[in-house]
Amino acid sequence: EPQADPDPSKKTLVILGTGWGSVSLLKNLDTENYNVVVISPRNYFLFTPLLPSCTTGTVEHRSIMEPIRSILLHKKAKVKFYEAEASSIDPDRKVVIIRDSSEIKGDMTETEVPYDMLVVGVGAENATFGIPGVREHSCFLKEIGDAQQIRKKIMDCVETAAFKDQTPAEIDRLLHMIVVGGGPTGVEFAGELQDFFEEDIRKLIPEISDRFRVTLIEALPNVLPSFSKQLIDYTESTFKEEKIDIRTKTMVKKVTDKTVEAEVTNPDGGKEHIVLPYGLLVWATGNAVRPVVRDLMSRIPAQKDSRRGLAVNEYLVVQGTRDIWAVGDCAVAGYAPTAQVASQEGNFLARLFNNMAKTEALEEKIRSLSSSLNLPTPPGGSSGDGGDGSGPLSAAEASRLIEEYERQLRRIKNIKPFHYSHQGSLAYIGSEKAVADVSWFNGNLATGGRLTFLFWRSAYLSMCFSTRNRLLVLNDWLKSKAFGRDVSRE
Ligand code: FAD
Ligand code: NAD
Repeated sequence: EPQADPDPSKKTLVILGTGWGSVSLLKNLDTENYNVVVISPRNYFLFTPLLPSCTTGTVEHRSIMEPIRSILLHKKAKVKFYEAEASSIDPDRKVVIIRDSSEIKGDMTETEVPYDMLVVGVGAENATFGIPGVREHSCFLKEIGDAQQIRKKIMDCVETAAFKDQTPAEIDRLLHMIVVGGGPTGVEFAGELQDFFEEDIRKLIPEISDRFRVTLIEALPNVLPSFSKQLIDYTESTFKEEKIDIRTKTMVKKVTDKTVEAEVTNPDGGKEHIVLPYGLLVWATGNAVRPVVRDLMSRIPAQKDSRRGLAVNEYLVVQGTRDIWAVGDCAVAGYAPTAQVASQEGNFLARLFNNMAKTEALEEKIRSLSSSLNLPTPPGGSSGDGGDGSGPLSAAEASRLIEEYERQLRRIKNIKPFHYSHQGSLAYIGSEKAVADVSWFNGNLATGGRLTFLFWRSAYLSMCFSTRNRLLVLNDWLKSKAFGRDVSRE
């Protein structure tokens, strides 16, 4: 029977965030060992790998969301969830200040949640490097709301370009979609966008479709820096066929409501300033540290040299603290900020916490047995019953049990540090092609093409959170293939 109030005999474990790190922790945690409290402004888990597909309607957004309340329903012991943002963390008083940042507010909008143990899994925010105009004029691609906004704007640009008597220059501007950042987010989005135009818009509005252009801007000499050279070349040549214009060695410096200004480094080393008019601008230049994390870092002297997030040790304990752990994009553990890393970290913490609870229970049993051995048996003999209610034990039995518990303790206490096991990198690049760097049977396989696309689809389908999500995504794929994407602008 789930209990409603915090059990005073248990520690309170507070988990911040409902993303990859926190949810994989929750999935594997024995919740009956702690009073578990989850705090996040988002009351659902989001399957980010399919977010780029939501921008064009290949996949509908609700198919990749899973309500946190239904995830928690399946836990053995009740878990509290507060839809709120952690605005600051006080490691001295061991409290988290939380704020209701949603649209509807009650009388109580800000309060404190005390913790014994805290897991920070708040992810990261979008990097803009302070470049002027980015926040005001571009779309990001991180949350469901971003994908919905992009989907709406693409169609707005198309319908506006098709407006009666629109000038050719204006049609060109409106149908020019610029993506800044050649990491996997930018590449996957550019591919999805091109598919949308080729497969649907071209059929529906043929008169303007030749004017449509996608430009991908990247500051470094090539896109997908984390993939192998072979796959970078494959992606770049596929994009050329798809008529996606890749502009590398091009650093965006300023954004206005209708133009992007950038500095291009020419082969001779010279710099050139360019101005590109656009209709839609998507900004995908990676991660920046969230304010709540930056604030916590400033309160912990051991974090003073850390820049990209909370520095953690090999057990994911935040350096300079004893009772705060960090997972995912907000933690600096020496790995890339990916869902794969975050979910393995969450898994690891679940094992660690399950173990810690078992350790404490065993230690408690050993303590009570040892004290019963040292004490004269009280009249009625109620002590030293081994904690299992089986009645008084003889000294010999008690010693045997202690030995057994100590053996168990040694076994479970011996938990190894976190070790990341890389399963490979996958990215969709448009026209039913994907690239994959996977290691199988100790060998490396770098592949690109249609077969890889099928592999990409089946891998992502199997990684979806629930059977419900899996069926919805499959249904969306079949639906958009059979009937085309839905271009109604909501
Ligand atoms: P997130 O999943 O971002 O979750 C953070 C959580 O914290 C959210 O629930 C958020 O609402 C909550 N939160 C935010 N602020 C607060 C606060 N103040 N208090 C409390 N809670 C807060 N990785 C891969 O490995 N493979 C892929 O194919 C892949 N595709 C991607 C595609 C896109 C478009 C994007 C944007 C990312 C992709 N990634 C992929 C990267 C991956 O999504 C991230 O690395 C991963 O989400 C990190 O997990 P996390 O738990 O740290 O953070
Ligand atoms: P990223 O950090 O991987 O790439 C951002 C790119 O933007 C960089 O290549 C950078 O050089 C470029 N850039 C920065 N400033 C610029 C400027 N002013 N002008 C032009 N270019 C500029 O970011 P991401 O693609 O959002 O990915 C974030 C994380 O999520 C990564 O760890 C990535 O691996 C992961 N992810 C993985 C997948 C996948 O596996 N399919 C998909 C999406 C994201």
